[in-house]
Amino acid sequence: MTPMMQQFLDIKTGYKDCILFFRLGDFYEMFFEDALTASKELEITLTGRDCGMAERAPMCGVPFHSAENYINRLITKGYKVAICEQTEDVSQSKGLVKRDVVRVVTPGTLTEGSMLDEKKNNYLLSLYIDKTCGISVVDVSTGELFVSSILYGNIQSKILDEIGKFMPSEIIINKQIEEETLFLEKVKQGFPSYISIIDEKDFNLSDVFSMVQERFSLKHPPEQDEAWVLSLGLLLHYLDKTSKVDLKHIREIKKYDIEGFMNIDVSSRRNLEITETIRDKTKKGSLLWVLDKTKTSMGARLLRKWLEEPLIHVEEIRQRSDAVEEFKEKFMIRMEIREALQGVYDLERLMGKVVIGNVNCRDLNSLKLSIQKVPAIKTFLAECVASFNHDLHDEVDLLEDLYDLIEDSILEDPPVSIKEGGIIKDGFSRQVDEYREASMQGKTWILELEKKEREKTGIKNLKTSYNKVFGYYLEVTKSYFDLVPNYFIRKQTLSHCERFVTQELKEIEEKVLGAEEKVKELEYSLFLTIRDRILKEVGRVKQTAESLAILDVLSTLGEIAERENYVKPMVDLTSTIQIENGRHPVVEKMMGHENFIPNDTHLDIIENRIAIITGPNMAGKSTYMRQVAAIVLMAQMGSFVPASYARIGVVDKIFTRVGASDDLAGGKSTFMVEMSEVANIIQHGTQKSLILLDEIGRGTSTYDGLSIAWAVIEYISSMDKIGARTLFATHYHELTELEEHGRGVKNYCISVKEKGEDVIFLRKIIRGGADGSFGIQVAKLAGIPNSIIHRAKEILEKLERADIAKLEKRYRKIATPIEGQLDIFSVNALSEKEKGILQKIREIELASLTPLDALNVLYGLQQQLR
Ligand code: ATP
Repeated sequence: MTPMMQQFLDIKTGYKDCILFFRLGDFYEMFFEDALTASKELEITLTGRDCGMAERAPMCGVPFHSAENYINRLITKGYKVAICEQTEDVSQSKGLVKRDVVRVVTPGTLTEGSMLDEKKNNYLLSLYIDKTCGISVVDVSTGELFVSSILYGNIQSKILDEIGKFMPSEIIINKQIEEETLFLEKVKQGFPSYISIIDEKDFNLSDVFSMVQERFSLKHPPEQDEAWVLSLGLLLHYLDKTSKVDLKHIREIKKYDIEGFMNIDVSSRRNLEITETIRDKTKKGSLLWVLDKTKTSMGARLLRKWLEEPLIHVEEIRQRSDAVEEFKEKFMIRMEIREALQGVYDLERLMGKVVIGNVNCRDLNSLKLSIQKVPAIKTFLAECVASFNHDLHDEVDLLEDLYDLIEDSILEDPPVSIKEGGIIKDGFSRQVDEYREASMQGKTWILELEKKEREKTGIKNLKTSYNKVFGYYLEVTKSYFDLVPNYFIRKQTLSHCERFVTQELKEIEEKVLGAEEKVKELEYSLFLTIRDRILKEVGRVKQTAESLAILDVLSTLGEIAERENYVKPMVDLTSTIQIENGRHPVVEKMMGHENFIPNDTHLDIIENRIAIITGPNMAGKSTYMRQVAAIVLMAQMGSFVPASYARIGVVDKIFTRVGASDDLAGGKSTFMVEMSEVANIIQHGTQKSLILLDEIGRGTSTYDGLSIAWAVIEYISSMDKIGARTLFATHYHELTELEEHGRGVKNYCISVKEKGEDVIFLRKIIRGGADGSFGIQVAKLAGIPNSIIHRAKEILEKLERADIAKLEKRYRKIATPIEGQLDIFSVNALSEKEKGILQKIREIELASLTPLDALNVLYGLQQQLR
């Protein structure tokens, strides 16, 4: 091996799971396996390099100045990239330049704006699973850190819910997980996150408690049973290994209780289309799409978090909605604040860059411009009375010292580079001013020299120029070659001219370039000092950033409440959900307010626990049910809601079972997925939950499905089993009989009007069961050819007749239904004509009939039936 290739291999041993970007001059080169992978994934040419062995090493490379783009592509494709730099000055080094890995770029530790979605947090989630589970979640780009412990209950299911909530781009887990193969498989299958398993042996568990106390300046060491500490230890160990800088902006631990928020399991989250649609995974069409009118990226990320984490503590919810109310009503304050917020940059990520050390002067100016907006915001906040808004006023720091520092030092329109000079304002440093003057002076001297030589030599077009190779030179075109004096020293001959230097020019050049070099160095070092001063204030900036983000969300919700005509919900601890003229926020927005038909809802845990909703296809059952869930969710995140009145008894969990989907990769058929979701609801639903069941039992034969649906409703409605508020949409009209059995079941249907062969959707929910499904009419609307529609009608008629005969047979068999259970195949299922015949049989006075009469009656009845 050549020494350099040996160096590569030595470094690579520590980063086997990464693609190693090995810095060679202006390129990052990759070798061996890494080169094979990267050339394929990045579609770049694979070459080879002599490595001292018989065969050349496969190699490919990317220019260092455009590396970010290539790294981004590799990360998106699920790789980790280790960046190996030259760690000493090439000109100073004797022999092989020292190199080392300065950072490992992984999906969960990204900080570069170009690789991140500005409106979405990029989370790295750490799990320490033992008998309990510790969770730590960090966004390295903003410094937010959340921790929690799961100590009891179905720990694995709770972990999955948390992963579903944060949707981290990367998960790290301690090695113990490998014993839980099934669970690990679920995590791998269920989420697109990159997973790294870390051996506990690699980091010191014994001092993790004191380390956490010290790192986060906690007054007391955390208790030994606080599982989150171990997960945080794992996280910090991983960050040390990857980021390799002291991430000072990760300085505050936000402990949260996973039971402190509304619980929404992974499939319900997807079904409710909170942040993206099920069909094409886009934001448009989701609840977030309706609400996200925030002015800053920080606000956009926070809004998403609030939506994903609705509250359950009434007081906290009220605080938020009071603040929203104030912004809804105080139009001028809202407008002024929102206008000021418009000019606020992403301070959280900007401070992340300050800490990591990749901030430039343009970023500092963004910080300055943002700070410039704060006084106005604070002044308007001072006029607010809602307690939340009042607190925000107190927490917003004017940061005048940082404003002055940047204003005094950094030029208004600086270059991206911080090492090439041209960034510090005149007057900030006397020395910079002196160097600049020397450099300017030197340039005047050069111009004077040019003039002098022109006159002296008679070369009329003599001019001085500069390039990086020769420095300053005098250029003489061909026609004047014979006038060149002998003190001109030839440097270069081109086709049409020659380039020269003179002793005097060299001397002046030294002064100019010396001053230019010095000023560059000095400017860079001043920049570092300014950056360090700002770094010291990272806590203050972060606190202000956080307050501005909250303010952005609250004022946005106020604006939307007004614009969309939402009302303030009354959230309390009762079990009532009372909504008048409720609307679905997304469907309404899509179709226009005037076209959406509002509907009422009443649920409680006494008389109105379960609403069985029937109605034709396309009537609006799903829309109605989801609208109730959306209103509850919005109310509990602190927002106003689309209704004319809403009272929401706090919901602890929302469950949804919607539509058909299979999970082939997870080894589950459509029906199996459906039943697993129902099982999950049965296991975890409580009296405070809201359950939406949009068709269950449809994936199997009619009687199987109907029986399952029936039994599930009985179970959910039973107060000693679950007793949760439930909306159940179904095409099994037989289920409407459950209302007669009490248990808090009420029938509703979405009304339609029949017009000839067609059906008109009225979209209004009314009490009672529906008359039919009108599936064939809807199929016709959807464009199924007439011949098929016709045939379907014929088949339907036949089936209905056959069904009645079957029912009758069955009815005869069931002599007396067992008490307490319902005979669902009741006489009601017979046609009017058949009922008439039964009635006639009932009325026959057998004692007064001769055998012949009896035979005649029987014959008559049989004829009718035939
Ligand atoms: P299916 O039984 O076929 O699943 P459904 O009863 O669940 O049908 P939805 O999917 O809820 O019907 O609604 C169908 C369409 O009707 C919606 O996409 C929407 O465009 C419209 N719609 C639903 N509710 C309303 C409403 N309240 N006002 C106006 N339009 C509505």
